[in-house]
Amino acid sequence: MFESVPQAKADPILGLTEAYNADPRANKINLGVGVYKDEAGTTPILASVKQAEALLLDTEKTKSYLGIQGVPEYGAHVQKLLFGADSAIIADNRARTAQAPGGTGALRIAADFAVRNLGRKTIWVSNPTWANHAAVFGAAGLTVEQYAYYNPATSDLDFDAMVESLKAAKAGDLVLLHGCCHNPTGIDPTAEQWQVLAEMSAAAGWLPLFDFAYQGFATGIEEDAQGLRTFLANHGELLIASSFSKNFGLYNERTGAFTLVAPSAAVADTAFSQVKVNIRAMYSNPPAHGAKVVSTILGNDDLYAQWVAEVTEMRVRIHQMRDLFVETLADKGVDGDFSFIQRQNGMFSFSGLNPAQVGKLKDDHGIYIVGSGRISVAGMTKANMDALCTGVADVLK
Ligand code: PLP
Repeated sequence: MFESVPQAKADPILGLTEAYNADPRANKINLGVGVYKDEAGTTPILASVKQAEALLLDTEKTKSYLGIQGVPEYGAHVQKLLFGADSAIIADNRARTAQAPGGTGALRIAADFAVRNLGRKTIWVSNPTWANHAAVFGAAGLTVEQYAYYNPATSDLDFDAMVESLKAAKAGDLVLLHGCCHNPTGIDPTAEQWQVLAEMSAAAGWLPLFDFAYQGFATGIEEDAQGLRTFLANHGELLIASSFSKNFGLYNERTGAFTLVAPSAAVADTAFSQVKVNIRAMYSNPPAHGAKVVSTILGNDDLYAQWVAEVTEMRVRIHQMRDLFVETLADKGVDGDFSFIQRQNGMFSFSGLNPAQVGKLKDDHGIYIVGSGRISVAGMTKANMDALCTGVADVLK
């Protein structure tokens, strides 16, 4: 039977890392995968995480199973991050959170709930979007439609086209929105645009699903929740998939959260009972370590302050690399206005390089970026900047 199974295509981003690892050139640069690197080019464990882990090592008494929804206090901490500590949603007990295996797991929980328990069939995602969205939603049985987002001519959000295309989304359709630091473009709606979208969504009856994988990487922990909070002011029901892979650096601990917001505590309980049934059938209950680390940090004032400082440091370094990239390209005499790179948020920059230029960067310079032209700015350092910009200048000639 197995012989009849056809070869699957390699994942475009993870496949790129494999090609990078196999490349013998000493000065190769990997700006493909979305992993934060510090100035030394390493992906560090945050000091706040190390301290939380030391505390856990001392105090943990059992490795017995967690409940289906995970570490008990985790949900309350996650909700404070999402809604703000003094949110009425928390006071009214209208949200339920399940710990999830990464943001990816949270997206799958959301999709399963929408398909199995709400009978939803369609989800709208931006064009372009994170490469895995279509696979995750397709696997759950959703049909994936695209709404307009990026305008290559202006290297900016095409808001009019976005609104126009979203007019085709029907009542009850899921609409996926990137909470901040849109992947792959780095371009987020403005406060006014979020307001327009939230009102449009409420009027049309969409079910918004926020993918929140970079809280703290655009402007700040609170500021980055502005789009979500604007929607919450207009919607009684909404779904959120959080990832703590990037902002806690917990990539391989698979630490995320699925949150549903309902019109009342009673409706939240009933809806969440079905989410738990779905999770039980999928992976029974989640792994503990990452969520315990997050809970320990968010529940301790000193560790929280330290974590905020560490997220700030990562965010500031990425912004500095954006500036340095644009300056170094100018120094190398590259024609054109690249200032849009400085306006983009988060780990990624949509460079505008075409697939042929991306191929030449790899072949001639050992510089690996995704075929769409997406560059992981979080992988740039002062040390690799000159070689990077020499390569980019060469392929743009
Ligand atoms: N959503 C977006 C937009 C992402 O960029 C990512 C990771 O790159 C995820 C979800 C998945 O996060 P995780 O690694 O926690 O599963």
